[in-house]
Amino acid sequence: MKQSFFDLTYDDLKALLIEKGFSPFGATQMFNWVYKKWVHDPNEWSNVSKAAKEFFIENYDFSLLKIVWSGLSKDGTRKFLVKMQDGQTVETVAIPARDRLTLCVSSQVGCAVGCTFCHTATQGLKRHLKPSEVVLQYLTVQKFLNDNTSGDKLTNIVYMGQGEPLHNYENMKKATEIFLCQQGLGLGQRRITLSTSGMVPAIEKLAIDFPTVNIAISLHSARNDVRTALMPINKVYDLERLFGAIKKIPLKAHRRITYEYLLIDGMNDQMEDVVALAELLNSKESKINLIPFNEYPGSEYKRPSEEKIMWFLDHMIKRGFTCTIRTTKGSDILAACGQLKSEFDKVNVWDNNSSRPVILPNISRSVRQNLQT
Ligand code: SAH
Ligand code: SF4
Repeated sequence: MKQSFFDLTYDDLKALLIEKGFSPFGATQMFNWVYKKWVHDPNEWSNVSKAAKEFFIENYDFSLLKIVWSGLSKDGTRKFLVKMQDGQTVETVAIPARDRLTLCVSSQVGCAVGCTFCHTATQGLKRHLKPSEVVLQYLTVQKFLNDNTSGDKLTNIVYMGQGEPLHNYENMKKATEIFLCQQGLGLGQRRITLSTSGMVPAIEKLAIDFPTVNIAISLHSARNDVRTALMPINKVYDLERLFGAIKKIPLKAHRRITYEYLLIDGMNDQMEDVVALAELLNSKESKINLIPFNEYPGSEYKRPSEEKIMWFLDHMIKRGFTCTIRTTKGSDILAACGQLKSEFDKVNVWDNNSSRPVILPNISRSVRQNLQT
């Protein structure tokens, strides 16, 4: 299997060119062709030497990911299930909001962290994604939008799909460098947000050698016992250790840190949770994003009532916090993180031989209508 060209950062490409005896200046031209002009066939690169073109045709793969399924929600959210070279699949979701179109990318196939509320956790960790597989989620979706919409353009990226990005540190670092590279896609630092469940050693490293991007911490409770029940990672990296690491993130560069707070009925939505959260966070340095729990078939938790969600929001605002509610997007197309992939894995398990997937009765109608064979 050839290595993907999209695994190479600009510096990797330059080093490779030097190693192979080509001019390092070719790196700028190649990144320009591939990321700015969307020309993925080296034969068409006019200002690159013939020998260099032949080397890349021979040794590197330029293909995009295969879209196994895509669905468009009533609210404009587009969800994609994409397949990689080894046949593994992950989800990636394009979410429109105001003047933005944000792509939520996956960082791993499955996840090892095992949060008790998360659908992806039920899949365990299959493997890390390569840098190319992260970059290609973006390129594949943008290509789909070029071909199927009147000019929709992805503007932002969040690492909030399947997987824990900091568990796949080095590959996510490379993917981030590729997204930011001025010679290539040139996305701004403020347009990328990394969300983590709180892997303390990696957060400490972030401050030193990860490109500057927005940071979101999945907090979900300011009380150790409740957080441990939701996120087993809290047994090892509890709130004291987590906040010890967060303090090392240079705030100037990162502006404020966003804290994601899942609201689960009767679990972390009580007065004592409000008080603990307000005590733990500094209202000037933090933003709180409340996420009403997204129920899925078989989930053991429930979403609080709308009144309860507003009550929680009110209390945080009264205490001086910048606090917002993340509205659920694309709920008519299996929005809960990891849910789509699981449904498809079931389909594949049920019928390995047929070219048409067996339609399970519990797959929603919108998914059924959109099944591609
Ligand atoms: N592993 C990283 C990033 C991926 S999860 C992390 O945990 O931060 C991205 C966000 O989706 C997290 O804040 C997570 O708590 C949230 N999430 C997971 N399952 C959810 C569900 N069923 N309903 C709502 N949000 C969920
Ligand atoms: Fe992994 Fe994030 Fe899901 Fe937890 S919430 S299991 S860290 S993907």
